[in-house]
Amino acid sequence: MHVAPLVCLQPPSTPARVASLDIVTIGDELLLGLTIDTNGAFLARELAHMGVAVGRRTSVGDSANDIVQVVGDALDRSGAVITTGGLGPTADDLTKPAIAGIFGRELYFDEAQWERLRELWRSRGRKGEPPEANKQQVMLPRGCTVLVNRHGSAPGIFLEDDRGRWVAMLPGVPREMRGLWAEELAPLVRQRLPAGTTPIRSITVRTTGIAESALPERLGDAARGIGSLSLAYLPGQEGVDLRLTSHTIPASDVDAALRAGADVLRIRVGTPVYAEGSMDLAEAVLVLCRKAGITLAVAESCTGGLLGARITAVPGSSDVFLGGAITYANDAKVAMVGVPTEMLARVGAVSREVAEAMARGARERLGASIGIGITGVAGPGGGSPEKPVGLVWVSVDAGGEPVSIGGQMIGDRQEIRFRATQTALDIVRRRLESGAGT
Ligand code: AMP
Ligand code: MG
Repeated sequence: MHVAPLVCLQPPSTPARVASLDIVTIGDELLLGLTIDTNGAFLARELAHMGVAVGRRTSVGDSANDIVQVVGDALDRSGAVITTGGLGPTADDLTKPAIAGIFGRELYFDEAQWERLRELWRSRGRKGEPPEANKQQVMLPRGCTVLVNRHGSAPGIFLEDDRGRWVAMLPGVPREMRGLWAEELAPLVRQRLPAGTTPIRSITVRTTGIAESALPERLGDAARGIGSLSLAYLPGQEGVDLRLTSHTIPASDVDAALRAGADVLRIRVGTPVYAEGSMDLAEAVLVLCRKAGITLAVAESCTGGLLGARITAVPGSSDVFLGGAITYANDAKVAMVGVPTEMLARVGAVSREVAEAMARGARERLGASIGIGITGVAGPGGGSPEKPVGLVWVSVDAGGEPVSIGGQMIGDRQEIRFRATQTALDIVRRRLESGAGT
């Protein structure tokens, strides 16, 4: 089955330097929007971290012609390309023959990789031989470097020509792709970094409860960046994240520069800052509660347990979070957290009084330091002129005067519910940070 190659191009003795490369993700499901291109995003982040600029990210369907065209263009532009997808055992997996064609290489049946695949088959408790279709996965371009796949059946491939232009092909399954990147491809890319490459690094300062348009005023001369650090404003349902990014600071100094930049942002913005990196507000609140020896209980109506879910998603929350009640129906508000029936009849379920009664009831019945009540109209139905969709009341009760916020949340049902939990957590955070405690 061994076939002589049409053209045998040896890789250069010293690898060509790569300062920029292209990413091509392959699969019809990406073009249809049925699968989100998380592989492209992952690789872009990893490469930025190394200091490799990504020139272009392209997605292409399972068509050999399109793959040849897009990867060929990418090679002409950058001289280095990483692809994911299309290495499977079925007829729509065309990446290898298409790219081998660009390099003028024949495919051959690789006995060693077939042995690996047979062992994998047996180790997964399967009987007999792997199906014939798997043989397609060990048809490799002549002269390639195999990127050993310890996570699945498709070997990755690194193909380089005599000018040092290369394409690395990784499988589409994200878990396998990440494994091959870390274990096999990242070291090859690292060898090819030009001397003095500076990493692209970021730090994120998270704010909530402040409008994006109000931030520049607080930031003053840092509003457009700090020194060589660029600043991005990233609004979302959690608040506005401020991301500082360095492109030019050497690896030895970049961490300190980002730290100093983040400190400037924190000081200038003040109270709205709740965390750094990807930390959720629930986790920031848990840290503050733990420090103050405070426990939490919740009574949730329109959020249906979302607040409890966010809090308990943080490992180790049990020393702070006691529990709560999902009091969706009026009767449940009465039975579980003691909201007076008369009050519900008088002011309705979505009201300051009921939110406060829920917060107090949750605190008292669970014996917590702080009780949180949430009630609102999450929509899309159920709104009225007096109580439109999006109206939410949130109350935090620590035994004294409760802190309550009522307002119109924007967005769809999911967003309204999320924003309600964010508002509740932020009341607790601001209270504890101001030293109000219980
Ligand atoms: P493939 O290697 O092309 O057979 O892809 C296998 C599976 O990996 C697909 O069914 C997708 O679910 C997933 N996948 C492929 N490409 C991507 C991508 N770019 N991002 C995230 N998942 C992907
Ligand atoms: Mg595919």
